[in-house]
Amino acid sequence: MLPETVVQLLKVQLRGQIILPGDPGYDLARKVYNALIDKRPAGIVQCRDVADVVTCVNIARQHRLLLAVRGGGHNGGGLGTCDDGLVIDLSHMKGIFIDPVAGTVRAEGGCTLADLDHATHPFGLAVPAGVFGTTGIGGLTLGGGLGYLTRKYGLSIDNLLEAGVVLADGSYVQASADSNPDLFWAVRGGGGNFGVVVSFLFRARPVSIVYGGPMIWEWSDAKEIMQWYREFITGAPDDIYGFLALLTIPAGPPFAEVYHGKKMCAIPWCYTGELSGAESIFQSIRAFKKPAIDLAGPIPFPVLQSLFDPTCPPGLHWYWKGDYVKELSDDAIDLHLKHAAAAPSWRSGMHLYPINGAAARIPKDATAWNYREATWAMVISGMDEAAANNKEKLVNWASRYWNDMRPYSAGGAYVNFMMQEGEDKVKAAYGDNYARLSVLKSKYDPDNLFRVNQNILPA
Ligand code: FAD
Repeated sequence: MLPETVVQLLKVQLRGQIILPGDPGYDLARKVYNALIDKRPAGIVQCRDVADVVTCVNIARQHRLLLAVRGGGHNGGGLGTCDDGLVIDLSHMKGIFIDPVAGTVRAEGGCTLADLDHATHPFGLAVPAGVFGTTGIGGLTLGGGLGYLTRKYGLSIDNLLEAGVVLADGSYVQASADSNPDLFWAVRGGGGNFGVVVSFLFRARPVSIVYGGPMIWEWSDAKEIMQWYREFITGAPDDIYGFLALLTIPAGPPFAEVYHGKKMCAIPWCYTGELSGAESIFQSIRAFKKPAIDLAGPIPFPVLQSLFDPTCPPGLHWYWKGDYVKELSDDAIDLHLKHAAAAPSWRSGMHLYPINGAAARIPKDATAWNYREATWAMVISGMDEAAANNKEKLVNWASRYWNDMRPYSAGGAYVNFMMQEGEDKVKAAYGDNYARLSVLKSKYDPDNLFRVNQNILPA
């Protein structure tokens, strides 16, 4: 319970709503995307503006409250909420201001990727982000941001021009190349460790109709496709993006009944070059091995970025494990196929997201994000309906799969594909950049107010 004085202080100062245990909306407001996470905060503040955020930060600091910050609520480890503390919920702060002449867009911290697409697409623009529309730009960007435009335009952080940040002492600062450049370096990959980012100014890119969508091959072809893919994607022009997925076909449209429930190997594509040249490029891919299901073609970028949203509605149980990988050897492919074939539910699977291309050409020390030299970020997702009561199977399967893949790891994992896995895993994720991040943490948040995250300890 929050002390009554704290509740009164918040009620007097806030424009947004504070929701307390026992309030009618409490159970809805405390839910995050991953239904495995069942936390009961002492209070949830649905902030309306920056002043609300400042108020919450000041009150949490002065009253020594555990503080969590929630953007889109998508985090696998549930780091957008906490037990017994105060949650700053940004999901009602969805202002987006586009400057089509400058080619920039400023988005408030509660926006999702779909919100951003909605605002930019009418101007023929897009911000490099992820592959699901429902993900929050907050957590995704602060952790790095891997998606359909990574090979062409880099990570989301490589397209971030400025962040508006409420610091632990309650002050508001701008972080950019010219203003607080050390903080700007840290927030580009360092997660929510340095403050509440209330707004993101992005460079938007000229992306409108792309050639994209999944090609899906039979399981019996999966090994050959993975061998072909590892060569193809490391040498392909930046215009071509494709992530690899080992998955099970859902039992419904647009898939023919014959494929329902079948294990298959997919590559969802996104080609951002001239559309007139797309057919011939993709014809050569089809000629290598004809996909059993071929859904690739011209598609508006926002449709592509939300194509898979219905397969992952909120409220599922998720347990995922990640790692960066540099190579995909034949032995690694065999292990992938062995474990993916034993997935505990049709929603469970494995994805390899490419990092090469434009993202790899940015120097390793230019941002806090540490794995520019990796080829892929791997994520193994154990996922099922909460009602399936499959939790132990999801955890065991993903953990065993991940353990067996460890010899092929580049050393650490993408922070956005981790559960809460402890200090050593956070250090491995930041590698050479951890020491600098730790020094900056002691400058901007010496008492570790912002610790419900992949936590970087103050030096
Ligand atoms: P939240 O749970 O709200 O927050 C996650 C963390 O970020 C917390 O520690 C929180 O405190 C912090 N945070 C969030 N917003 C702010 C803010 N404004 N200021 C300070 N701290 C903040 N990742 C990719 O890179 N590419 C993908 O394509 C991709 N696809 C995904 C698809 C699905 C279905 C899911 C579930 C996740 C996906 N992810 C992807 C991972 C995703 O980036 C992380 O789960 C990320 O943490 C989600 O951010 P969020 O704001 O929605 O989460």
